[in-house]
Amino acid sequence: QPQTGELQALDRAHHLHPFTDFKALGEEGSRIITHAEGIYIYDSEGQRILDGMAGLWCVNLGYGRQELVDAATEQMRQLPYYNNFFKTTHEPAVRLAEKLCQLAPSDINRVFFTGSGSEANDTVLRMVRRYWAIKGRPRKRVVIARENAYHGSTIAGMSLGGMAPMHAQGGPCVPGIEHIRQPYWFGEGRDQSPTAFGQECAAALEAKILELGEDNVAAFIAEPVQGAGGAIIPPDSYWPAIKAVLARHDILLVVDEVICGFGRLGEWFGSQHYALQPDLMPIAKGLSSGYLPIGGVLVGDRVAEALIEEGGEFFHGFTYSGHPTCAAVALRNLELMEREGVIQHVREDVGPYLAKRWSELAEHPIVGEARSLGLIGSLELVADKANGERFDKSLAAGNLCRDLCFQHGLVIRSVGDTMIVSPPLVMTREQIDELVALARQALDDTARHLGI
Ligand code: PLP
Repeated sequence: QPQTGELQALDRAHHLHPFTDFKALGEEGSRIITHAEGIYIYDSEGQRILDGMAGLWCVNLGYGRQELVDAATEQMRQLPYYNNFFKTTHEPAVRLAEKLCQLAPSDINRVFFTGSGSEANDTVLRMVRRYWAIKGRPRKRVVIARENAYHGSTIAGMSLGGMAPMHAQGGPCVPGIEHIRQPYWFGEGRDQSPTAFGQECAAALEAKILELGEDNVAAFIAEPVQGAGGAIIPPDSYWPAIKAVLARHDILLVVDEVICGFGRLGEWFGSQHYALQPDLMPIAKGLSSGYLPIGGVLVGDRVAEALIEEGGEFFHGFTYSGHPTCAAVALRNLELMEREGVIQHVREDVGPYLAKRWSELAEHPIVGEARSLGLIGSLELVADKANGERFDKSLAAGNLCRDLCFQHGLVIRSVGDTMIVSPPLVMTREQIDELVALARQALDDTARHLGI
């Protein structure tokens, strides 16, 4: 066993963690995760913790999959690295590209690989701009995204994202990106029906396009279900209305599938759940079940054919675009998902089961709403169930609940006072029962701490 204290001291001295208050971490010290198996992670003090977030929404097949270790080992022996620049490639990248296009909506037949979801969204921006320039409409450059969305941490990813604190700290953002409201019914729309609210959010897109001028708007980017923004499941009326707006104004649809892709909503891609035909789909995370870093952009025929016909070098790419070892692991991951019927398992078994068990938590005194789709779910913490009033921000109820979950042996994410789960897709019904029981205990504790 590693020495917890020694590792914490070294961590404090030398390691700046992502998305972390460095000062607070220095005072509290980190939890050291040592190993993992199935849906559980283990820390250096021997605690077993149910990973209700699948790492960072990515370990879809769960931990300890020997087949993925073997895929990496075999590929590393044969060709650990080579690039795809200029006119070379290798079998793992080619086979993975073919597989992805088989699984994607029908008029997506090309993929551009990246190392991460952030790089995928940078690539989206580059492709969208080039597409409209080729089409002789270079003024079409503005991309419309949504408030509170997360699309990555590079400057382009941050700019596409709609997280105000990130903009405040990391700005100025890339120019030519505008944000509209998110279809967050519980947070912003409860004075009307979900249907009316979904339509109102789509109308906000049209209003923004008209304000900017259709000739200036290149694309709209959104996740099928907004993940890091709070597991925001749009009302059923939302996506059909958005599709109609985009068609009316000839604007490209970019669907960020970094979280929703690879089974999270019970289809290979979230786009398929909502019957979307995206022009571009950034992907990452579950593509390799997080075992190795790999991302990409699935490119629809409309954009790909324009880029190909135009010719001329596309001055864009990454050293690790289509990395052979990462690609081999991703391919094996997709093959395993197919062989084990993971999509069906989510759509027909554990997705509906989570919906049933999770919705029971809506009865808890501090829960205003419990929603889920496939294997993503969230709880809205409220001080007053009757009117949905939130806790005072100074109480940081969400973070309190998250920390209490951890103490009970459950990883769950807090975004403000919205609690999110996004567990491995291979979970069983019994494990969902365990997850719900742990969440309930932590909610009871949270209520007690808050004097309710
Ligand atoms: N897009 C979405 C929807 C994400 O949730 C994330 C990461 O959480 C990203 C993009 C960025 O991906 P990465 O962290 O691999 O750069």
